[in-house]
Amino acid sequence: MIAQNKPEMLKSSHQLEVRIGCDEMKNEYDCVVIGAGPAGGTTAALVAEAGNSTLLIEREKMPRFHVGESLMPEVYWTLDRLGVVEKIRAKGKFTKKNGVQFVTNKGKESRPFFFQEHDARESALTWHVKREDFDKILFDNATEKGADCFDETRVTKIDFSENGKHKIELIDREGQTRHVIAKVVVDATGQQSMIANKLQIKDVNPELKKAAIWSYFEGAKRNGSGEEAEVTCILHTKDKSAWYWYIPLGDGSVSVGLVSNNDSLLKGRGTPAETFYEEMENCVGIKNRLADATQKGEIRVAKEFSYTTKKHACDGWVLVGDAYSFIDPVYSSGVFLALKSGELAADAINEGFQLGDLSEQQLGCWTDDYEKGISLFRKLVGAFYTDEFSFAEFMKKYPQYKGDLTDLLIGRVYGDSNPGRMFDDMDPWIQHSKDGTIDQYAATIPDPMMETM
Ligand SMILES: Cc1cc2nc3c(=O)[nH]c(=O)nc-3n(C[C@H](O)[C@H](O)[C@H](O)COP(=O)(O)OP(=O)(O)OC[C@H]3O[C@@H](n4cnc5c(N)ncnc54)[C@H](O)[C@@H]3O)c2cc1C
Repeated sequence: MIAQNKPEMLKSSHQLEVRIGCDEMKNEYDCVVIGAGPAGGTTAALVAEAGNSTLLIEREKMPRFHVGESLMPEVYWTLDRLGVVEKIRAKGKFTKKNGVQFVTNKGKESRPFFFQEHDARESALTWHVKREDFDKILFDNATEKGADCFDETRVTKIDFSENGKHKIELIDREGQTRHVIAKVVVDATGQQSMIANKLQIKDVNPELKKAAIWSYFEGAKRNGSGEEAEVTCILHTKDKSAWYWYIPLGDGSVSVGLVSNNDSLLKGRGTPAETFYEEMENCVGIKNRLADATQKGEIRVAKEFSYTTKKHACDGWVLVGDAYSFIDPVYSSGVFLALKSGELAADAINEGFQLGDLSEQQLGCWTDDYEKGISLFRKLVGAFYTDEFSFAEFMKKYPQYKGDLTDLLIGRVYGDSNPGRMFDDMDPWIQHSKDGTIDQYAATIPDPMMETM
């Protein structure tokens, strides 16, 4: 029996921490980064490290709660460049994540994709993190690298100027309105997408208007505990109209979330808590895992509409992380993309300062390549939400793509490997699945060659 708690906020132990930040805000900066999630923390650290005066502004008090706890192995390279891998490894903080497991709507538990079977390097092992701790590491790192970092400071307005001195209005920690001038503005405000909303350049995918209901549980069944490596599980409900995530955390608790279409999840039903437990009856894998668990803390709800932006940079500004685009979280690509875009944008900004060129072309010079990587995640998300499509059936016919699929789950979409080639065969397979002609189509594809001993 799962014990449910009355909604309550858990007090974070960090509330006792002394804030590391800055006391004096200057009136003018080379670069102002708005939002201190993984994207903003990364950009600010790397721009400041290159010697450009940088201001990082976060509206909430750090550390602050955030959803998005399961990382992709490819985060390693940006974290390494930032110099924070040792802090993240610090004993007991975060559970190692060694793979991803999918559980079908019929309750069949697939063999997990273990990352290190594909790539034995340590970088193929990643983490499940509490985002308040993870993002605080990046915030503090930006301070250490020389950025002026202010939490509890909210940007209320941005006025772009033709003379390259953009005016940012903010409300500071004392509640006073003040203005700061920036040569470059980085929008890292996450789903708030401050610039994209102001310029109305947000493009929402009408097919992926999802919502999530989630909470935290103690006493759930786990494969390991603490630092022992565990997988993230993705479990479909019986009719495939929804799925649960199951993310084991370093403090012994587990993050469990239900994702489905926004309207079917939140409209014309009971409370989110009722819906969360109701759907669990349709998901035997989650029910079993939580059989002896106790819910800790409140039931949380988030809208998660997938979107992109029609323009990603312009003279004097650039978008990063979720402010650039949001992809459905089923493959846990969000933090990886936030770090990656933060890194690529920082390089473009630093180069722009060296060249004296802060044009749209310069600040957005990385976005074409970045888009190619994102498009592969989008395709994979599309496959997951195609009810008629079965990854297992596809893989039976095309076992040669197991490595490519694992590459995608690792986040290896930039660089030498070419996992996108898998879609040459997956795209028509999906289309035939949708058309109801998959059996005929599959019969035309030769069976894979048996491996010879
Ligand atoms: C339900 C759900 C589950 C998810 N699960 C995963 C997962 O398992 N793994 C994963 O990798 N990703 C996951 N994601 C995605 C992930 O959370 C995001 O992609 C990631 O946090 C993006 O980082 P970011 O830095 O762009 O934005 P954020 O982390 O959202 O940071 C933006 C910051 O900007 C601040 N801000 C906003 N407006 C202002 C303002 N006006 N002034 C000052 N500051 C401001 C906010 O307070 C916030 O701290 C999930 C997302 C959702 C919705």
